[in-house]
Amino acid sequence: MSTIENNNLPCFRCGVCCRKYQVRVTVGEARNIAEKLGINLTEFLRKYTDPRWPGSDSFLFLHQKGSCIFLREKPGSKTTGCAIHTFRPKDCRDWTPGPERPECQCGLADWGLTIKDGGLSGSEEAIRKFNSFLDTLK
Ligand code: SF4
Ligand code: SF4
Repeated sequence: MSTIENNNLPCFRCGVCCRKYQVRVTVGEARNIAEKLGINLTEFLRKYTDPRWPGSDSFLFLHQKGSCIFLREKPGSKTTGCAIHTFRPKDCRDWTPGPERPECQCGLADWGLTIKDGGLSGSEEAIRKFNSFLDTLK
């Protein structure tokens, strides 16, 4: 068992939340992201948003193969990346990880860990590996 100080579990980039939810973006955000990607809004909407959402003021990021189209899997790794991390939309920036979140708990299962009594529970080896990994994120 390893205590999580101040109930503060950092994001360990498992990507579960990016697989589970379709993020909503405003038209202003969509325009900004399109600009950063060097394409116009029309092309951005065609390539990266869900045509089933009939929005004109807001849009949903497209999901492909079960995850946000901007999620990047890293083969052989438990971690993922976001292709637009530095200019991701507000809904993504506002999302905070935490030990109480089922999504983060789901990601912890990949490390052989669970949350118990407010701390990380698992084998000593699993906890050591996870904490070493967290150190690399600092
Ligand atoms: S589920 Fe939690 S740990 Fe995993 S990417 Fe989302 S916020 Fe980070
Ligand atoms: S934009 Fe990035 S952070 Fe937001 S859901 Fe997609 S992959 Fe995740």
